[in-house]
Amino acid sequence: MTTPERSNAPDGDGDYGLSRRNLLLAGGAAVATPAFTGVSPVETAHAATTSAPGRFYYPIDRESLSAARAMALEALLIEKGIITGNTVDSVLSFFETQMGPFNGAKIVARAWVDPGFKQRVVDNTPAAIAELVDLPKGMAGAEGEHMRAVANGPHVHHLVICTLCSCYPWPVLGLPPYWYKDPTFRARSAREPRAVLKEFGLEIPPSVEIKTWDSSAQIRWFVIPERPAGTDGMSEAELAKLVTPESMMGVARVEAPH
Ligand code: FE
Repeated sequence: MTTPERSNAPDGDGDYGLSRRNLLLAGGAAVATPAFTGVSPVETAHAATTSAPGRFYYPIDRESLSAARAMALEALLIEKGIITGNTVDSVLSFFETQMGPFNGAKIVARAWVDPGFKQRVVDNTPAAIAELVDLPKGMAGAEGEHMRAVANGPHVHHLVICTLCSCYPWPVLGLPPYWYKDPTFRARSAREPRAVLKEFGLEIPPSVEIKTWDSSAQIRWFVIPERPAGTDGMSEAELAKLVTPESMMGVARVEAPH
Protein backbone atom coordinates (compact mmCIF):
# COMPACT_ATOMS: atom_id res chain seq x y z
CA MET A 1 0.00 0.00 0.00
CA THR A 2 1.16 3.48 -0.73
CA THR A 3 0.19 6.44 1.37
CA PRO A 4 -0.12 9.62 -0.65
CA GLU A 5 2.26 12.39 0.25
CA ARG A 6 0.72 15.27 2.11
CA SER A 7 0.53 18.43 0.09
CA ASN A 8 -0.28 21.14 2.56
CA ALA A 9 -1.95 24.22 1.23
CA PRO A 10 0.57 26.99 0.67
CA ASP A 11 0.27 30.36 2.27
CA GLY A 12 -1.28 31.89 -0.80
CA ASP A 13 1.77 31.63 -3.01
CA GLY A 14 0.76 28.43 -4.78
CA ASP A 15 4.10 26.67 -4.25
CA TYR A 16 3.46 22.94 -4.16
CA GLY A 17 6.95 21.99 -5.20
CA LEU A 18 5.92 21.38 -8.77
CA SER A 19 7.47 23.09 -11.72
CA ARG A 20 5.08 24.69 -14.12
CA ARG A 21 5.49 21.89 -16.61
CA ASN A 22 5.03 19.28 -13.93
CA LEU A 23 1.96 21.16 -12.81
CA LEU A 24 0.60 20.84 -16.30
CA LEU A 25 1.24 17.14 -16.28
CA ALA A 26 0.22 16.31 -12.75
CA GLY A 27 -2.81 18.49 -13.02
CA GLY A 28 -1.85 20.69 -10.12
CA ALA A 29 -2.98 20.35 -6.57
CA ALA A 30 -2.10 16.91 -5.32
CA VAL A 31 0.98 14.87 -5.98
CA ALA A 32 -0.23 11.62 -4.49
CA THR A 33 0.34 8.36 -6.32
CA PRO A 34 -1.93 5.78 -4.77
CA ALA A 35 -1.46 2.13 -5.60
CA PHE A 36 -4.89 1.03 -6.68
CA THR A 37 -5.60 -2.66 -6.69
CA GLY A 38 -7.10 -3.87 -9.92
CA VAL A 39 -6.08 -3.65 -13.48
CA SER A 40 -7.61 -1.38 -16.04
CA PRO A 41 -7.81 -2.68 -19.62
CA VAL A 42 -6.61 0.72 -20.71
CA GLU A 43 -3.54 0.55 -18.53
CA THR A 44 -2.62 -3.02 -19.39
CA ALA A 45 -2.57 -2.12 -23.06
CA HIS A 46 0.84 -0.64 -22.35
CA ALA A 47 3.77 -2.98 -22.34
CA ALA A 48 5.90 -1.14 -19.80
CA THR A 49 4.26 -1.21 -16.40
CA THR A 50 5.19 -0.98 -12.77
CA SER A 51 6.43 -4.23 -11.36
CA ALA A 52 4.23 -4.59 -8.26
CA PRO A 53 1.84 -7.48 -9.04
CA GLY A 54 -1.84 -6.99 -8.31
CA ARG A 55 -1.55 -3.26 -8.05
CA PHE A 56 -2.50 -0.33 -10.16
CA TYR A 57 -0.51 -0.75 -13.33
CA TYR A 58 0.65 2.17 -15.36
CA PRO A 59 3.50 2.75 -17.77
CA ILE A 60 6.53 3.98 -15.88
CA ASP A 61 7.23 6.52 -18.62
CA ARG A 62 3.67 7.84 -18.66
CA GLU A 63 4.57 11.27 -17.33
CA SER A 64 7.55 11.77 -19.64
CA LEU A 65 5.41 10.71 -22.60
CA SER A 66 2.71 13.13 -21.52
CA ALA A 67 5.30 15.88 -21.17
CA ALA A 68 6.59 15.32 -24.68
CA ARG A 69 3.03 15.28 -26.05
CA ALA A 70 2.07 18.47 -24.19
CA MET A 71 5.17 20.33 -25.35
CA ALA A 72 4.70 19.20 -28.95
CA LEU A 73 1.08 20.34 -28.84
CA GLU A 74 2.05 23.70 -27.35
CA ALA A 75 4.73 24.21 -30.02
CA LEU A 76 2.26 23.37 -32.78
CA LEU A 77 -0.36 25.77 -31.43
CA ILE A 78 2.23 28.55 -31.22
CA GLU A 79 3.49 27.80 -34.73
CA LYS A 80 -0.06 28.03 -36.09
CA GLY A 81 -0.63 31.30 -34.24
CA ILE A 82 -3.48 29.92 -32.12
CA ILE A 83 -1.71 30.73 -28.83
CA THR A 84 1.33 32.76 -27.92
CA GLY A 85 4.40 31.69 -26.00
CA ASN A 86 2.86 33.12 -22.84
CA THR A 87 -0.54 31.49 -23.06
CA VAL A 88 0.20 28.24 -21.26
CA ASP A 89 2.28 29.97 -18.60
CA SER A 90 -0.56 32.41 -18.00
CA VAL A 91 -3.07 29.63 -17.52
CA LEU A 92 -0.79 27.72 -15.19
CA SER A 93 0.07 30.86 -13.24
CA PHE A 94 -3.64 31.49 -12.78
CA PHE A 95 -4.10 28.09 -11.16
CA GLU A 96 -0.90 28.46 -9.13
CA THR A 97 -1.72 31.84 -7.66
CA GLN A 98 -5.43 32.60 -8.03
CA MET A 99 -7.53 29.46 -8.15
CA GLY A 100 -6.22 26.57 -6.11
CA PRO A 101 -6.53 24.57 -2.91
CA PHE A 102 -5.44 27.57 -0.84
CA ASN A 103 -8.95 28.95 -1.52
CA GLY A 104 -10.64 25.76 -0.43
CA ALA A 105 -8.50 25.71 2.72
CA LYS A 106 -9.80 29.16 3.71
CA ILE A 107 -13.39 28.01 3.23
CA VAL A 108 -12.79 24.91 5.35
CA ALA A 109 -11.08 26.87 8.12
CA ARG A 110 -13.96 29.36 8.24
CA ALA A 111 -16.43 26.46 8.41
CA TRP A 112 -14.50 25.03 11.36
CA VAL A 113 -14.64 28.23 13.37
CA ASP A 114 -18.14 29.31 12.34
CA PRO A 115 -20.86 26.60 12.47
CA GLY A 116 -23.34 28.99 10.85
CA PHE A 117 -21.03 29.44 7.87
CA LYS A 118 -20.51 25.69 7.69
CA GLN A 119 -24.25 25.19 7.36
CA ARG A 120 -24.52 27.92 4.76
CA VAL A 121 -21.66 26.56 2.68
CA VAL A 122 -23.44 23.20 2.55
CA ASP A 123 -26.86 24.75 1.87
CA ASN A 124 -25.77 27.25 -0.79
CA THR A 125 -22.09 26.94 -1.58
CA PRO A 126 -21.60 29.83 -4.06
CA ALA A 127 -23.51 32.27 -1.81
CA ALA A 128 -21.50 31.29 1.27
CA ILE A 129 -18.21 31.54 -0.63
CA ALA A 130 -19.18 35.03 -1.74
CA GLU A 131 -19.18 36.05 1.95
CA LEU A 132 -15.41 35.54 2.14
CA VAL A 133 -13.96 38.80 0.95
CA ASP A 134 -10.32 37.65 1.08
CA LEU A 135 -10.86 35.13 -1.70
CA PRO A 136 -9.89 36.25 -5.21
CA LYS A 137 -12.49 37.75 -7.49
CA GLY A 138 -13.98 35.34 -9.95
CA MET A 139 -14.70 32.47 -7.59
CA ALA A 140 -18.10 32.15 -9.21
CA GLY A 141 -16.43 31.85 -12.60
CA ALA A 142 -14.26 29.01 -13.85
CA GLU A 143 -17.23 26.77 -13.17
CA GLY A 144 -17.40 27.90 -9.53
CA GLU A 145 -21.09 28.54 -9.97
CA HIS A 146 -21.60 24.78 -10.01
CA MET A 147 -19.76 24.02 -6.76
CA ARG A 148 -21.42 22.17 -3.89
CA ALA A 149 -19.89 21.25 -0.53
CA VAL A 150 -20.56 18.27 1.70
CA ALA A 151 -19.34 18.10 5.30
CA ASN A 152 -17.78 15.07 6.94
CA GLY A 153 -18.96 14.14 10.42
CA PRO A 154 -18.59 11.41 13.03
CA HIS A 155 -21.01 9.14 11.19
CA VAL A 156 -20.43 10.00 7.53
CA HIS A 157 -17.41 10.36 5.28
CA HIS A 158 -17.67 11.88 1.83
CA LEU A 159 -15.62 10.99 -1.25
CA VAL A 160 -15.65 13.04 -4.43
CA ILE A 161 -15.09 11.51 -7.84
CA CYS A 162 -16.07 12.04 -11.46
CA THR A 163 -17.10 8.75 -13.01
CA LEU A 164 -17.42 10.23 -16.49
CA CYS A 165 -14.18 12.18 -16.82
CA SER A 166 -12.50 14.64 -14.42
CA CYS A 167 -15.04 17.28 -13.29
CA TYR A 168 -13.50 19.16 -10.41
CA PRO A 169 -14.14 22.39 -8.44
CA TRP A 170 -11.31 24.43 -9.94
CA PRO A 171 -11.77 27.67 -7.92
CA VAL A 172 -11.34 25.86 -4.61
CA LEU A 173 -9.04 22.99 -5.58
CA GLY A 174 -7.23 24.07 -8.74
CA LEU A 175 -6.48 21.46 -11.37
CA PRO A 176 -7.10 17.78 -10.58
CA PRO A 177 -4.23 15.35 -10.02
CA TYR A 178 -3.72 12.76 -12.72
CA TRP A 179 -4.99 9.86 -10.62
CA TYR A 180 -8.36 11.59 -10.22
CA LYS A 181 -8.80 11.09 -13.97
CA ASP A 182 -7.69 7.49 -13.95
CA PRO A 183 -10.32 4.98 -15.17
CA THR A 184 -9.45 2.51 -12.45
CA PHE A 185 -9.76 5.07 -9.66
CA ARG A 186 -13.06 6.33 -11.03
CA ALA A 187 -14.60 2.90 -11.45
CA ARG A 188 -13.40 1.40 -8.21
CA SER A 189 -14.25 4.44 -6.09
CA ALA A 190 -17.85 4.13 -7.20
CA ARG A 191 -17.92 0.37 -6.69
CA GLU A 192 -15.84 -0.11 -3.54
CA PRO A 193 -14.93 3.25 -2.00
CA ARG A 194 -14.00 1.78 1.38
CA ALA A 195 -11.36 -0.46 -0.18
CA VAL A 196 -9.98 2.37 -2.32
CA LEU A 197 -9.73 4.70 0.66
CA LYS A 198 -7.86 2.02 2.59
CA GLU A 199 -5.31 1.92 -0.22
CA PHE A 200 -4.89 5.67 0.24
CA GLY A 201 -4.05 4.92 3.88
CA LEU A 202 -7.46 6.09 5.08
CA GLU A 203 -9.30 3.40 7.02
CA ILE A 204 -12.93 4.32 7.61
CA PRO A 205 -14.55 2.40 10.50
CA PRO A 206 -17.50 0.15 9.50
CA SER A 207 -19.79 2.30 11.67
CA VAL A 208 -19.11 5.33 9.45
CA GLU A 209 -21.12 5.56 6.25
CA ILE A 210 -19.21 6.47 3.08
CA LYS A 211 -21.03 8.60 0.55
CA THR A 212 -19.51 8.94 -2.92
CA TRP A 213 -20.43 12.03 -4.90
CA ASP A 214 -20.17 12.01 -8.66
CA SER A 215 -19.14 15.41 -10.00
CA SER A 216 -20.49 16.46 -13.35
CA ALA A 217 -20.92 19.46 -15.61
CA GLN A 218 -23.80 20.49 -13.35
CA ILE A 219 -22.28 19.98 -9.88
CA ARG A 220 -18.65 20.11 -8.77
CA TRP A 221 -18.39 18.60 -5.28
CA PHE A 222 -15.81 19.23 -2.58
CA VAL A 223 -15.54 18.08 1.01
CA ILE A 224 -15.43 20.01 4.26
CA PRO A 225 -13.25 17.58 6.26
CA GLU A 226 -13.52 17.19 10.02
CA ARG A 227 -11.49 19.52 12.17
CA PRO A 228 -8.74 17.51 13.83
CA ALA A 229 -8.63 17.20 17.63
CA GLY A 230 -6.03 19.26 19.42
CA THR A 231 -6.47 22.39 17.32
CA ASP A 232 -8.65 24.41 19.71
CA GLY A 233 -6.12 27.18 20.20
CA MET A 234 -5.33 27.70 16.55
CA SER A 235 -6.33 30.73 14.53
CA GLU A 236 -8.34 30.49 11.33
CA ALA A 237 -5.22 31.22 9.28
CA GLU A 238 -3.27 28.53 11.12
CA LEU A 239 -6.09 26.05 10.59
CA ALA A 240 -6.18 26.78 6.87
CA LYS A 241 -2.55 25.72 6.57
CA LEU A 242 -3.48 22.23 7.81
CA VAL A 243 -6.03 21.62 5.07
CA THR A 244 -4.81 19.51 2.17
CA PRO A 245 -6.31 19.08 -1.30
CA GLU A 246 -6.64 15.37 -0.56
CA SER A 247 -8.77 16.08 2.51
CA MET A 248 -11.10 18.21 0.38
CA MET A 249 -11.42 15.34 -2.09
CA GLY A 250 -12.20 12.90 0.71
CA VAL A 251 -9.16 10.65 0.32
CA ALA A 252 -7.43 11.85 3.49
CA ARG A 253 -8.14 13.29 6.92
CA VAL A 254 -6.72 16.59 8.11
CA GLU A 255 -4.02 15.90 10.65
CA ALA A 256 -3.28 18.05 13.67
CA PRO A 257 0.26 19.47 13.76
CA HIS A 258 2.71 17.28 15.61
FE1 FE B 1 -16.01 15.06 -15.52
